[in-house]
This record gives sequence, C-alpha cells and structure tokens, in this order.
Amino acid sequence: MQYRNGQRLPLDGGEGTLRLSVNSRARRISIRIDVRAGEAVAVAPNERRLAEAVTFARSRNAWILERLTARPVGTPLQPGGTVTLSGHPVRLVAGGGAGAARLSTDETGPIIISGGEGEAFSRRVRNLLKREARRALVARTDIHLQALGQKPVQVSIADGRSRWGSCSPHNRTIRYSWRVIMAPPAVLDYLAAHEVAHLVHANHSPAYWAVVRDLIGDPSSHRRWLRDHGASLHAVGR
Ligand SMILES: [Zn+2]
Repeated sequence: MQYRNGQRLPLDGGEGTLRLSVNSRARRISIRIDVRAGEAVAVAPNERRLAEAVTFARSRNAWILERLTARPVGTPLQPGGTVTLSGHPVRLVAGGGAGAARLSTDETGPIIISGGEGEAFSRRVRNLLKREARRALVARTDIHLQALGQKPVQVSIADGRSRWGSCSPHNRTIRYSWRVIMAPPAVLDYLAAHEVAHLVHANHSPAYWAVVRDLIGDPSSHRRWLRDHGASLHAVGR
C-alpha cells in the first residue's frame, strides 16, 4: 500500500481520522494529536516510511481515541452567551417562539435574537452565522476574482473540523468554513484571497504567495491570527 502525504484514514472504532504527514525534518516516525482538527497525525520523515507510521498508529489506536475524546469541549451557543461576529462580540438573546435567528440591537449593543430552545436555539444561531459568512465570503471572493481576471466560481460553505477553506481549480469550486465569519474582516478577506489565488497556482509556492500579496498585502498577521484563534473558533457551538 502506497500512502501519500496529507492522506486521511478513518480511525478504528471511533470518530476521527488519522492524517498522514511527511516532515523532512522529522528524525523518526511519530504520532501527535491535533487538538484543533480533532485528528491524530502520523508523521514520517519521507513518503516511503508512511506505511510504517500507519502501522505504528494502528498499534496505538486505543491511546489515540482516548486522547481525542479528552480534547476540550465546545463553547455552547445559548441565550445569555456571546458569539463573535466579524471580530465583535454579539450577545445571544432568547426571542421565544420558534422564529429564525436575526441580527438586532438593544440598549447593550448588537444582539442575535432567536427562537428555539437548547439545540434548536444553537442551530438557528449557527444558520444565521452561516448566512452571514456566505454573504461576506461571496462578496470578497468576487472582488479577488475580478482583480485576477478570473471567471466566477461555485462557492460553498462547510463546517470542517480544521480547514478554513479549499479550492478545486479543476471544478472551479471554493469551499469555506463558515466559522471565519467570527474573525475580523481582514482575516476573512485573507482567506478569500488565499483560496482565489489557488486558481492561479494550485500550491503554496513563492509565486503563489506573490499573488496573495498582490491581492491583500502581507498576509502573515492574518495567518498568525488563524493559527492562534483557530481552536476556539472551531469549538464554538460544538
Ligand atoms: Zn492554500
């Protein structure tokens, strides 16, 4: 069996995946737990040794499952709580009834008011955040497409456990995580530029990063922001 860098395999007897990673600086095969992604990562110094890393991970399956279930539980979306929208805190308010979540303001500032109780409340708030995410991401995607003279793409909104976005130049589809709507607008804009630039270069080469820089300037602070806040954004409403 030939394994590839980045390949994901299901874990035996539990939820979660085993991601295969080649790191040329690694001295030996190892396993680490990616808390943000909720997955185990089998690391090998080269692609040839990935099979060995998979065998090692399989032998440690019980330990991996234990570590994955011990990861921090999510931040609930419930009345009285807050959620961050475009980098600003917004209070969550129970509206009674069964109405959809909507943005509003009261004497304390911006609020999201929604019907539903428990999981139904949480789902309505998530749906509103997804709608806001789609609107903002489609708008920024269009701007970057125009700047690069690219034809339209199909945008979809997903809820992956770890990824912020992906681009399939072949199918002209871009997929984003709605969770980026919680980040400051400049970070969301960076994500859109990141994926649109993959239509030009389907890799992370210096030429690719030059395209990103042409679109939004230096992306390093936005990348750092996502690295530092990713875990908490991915935990919201889980
Ligand atoms: Zn990328």
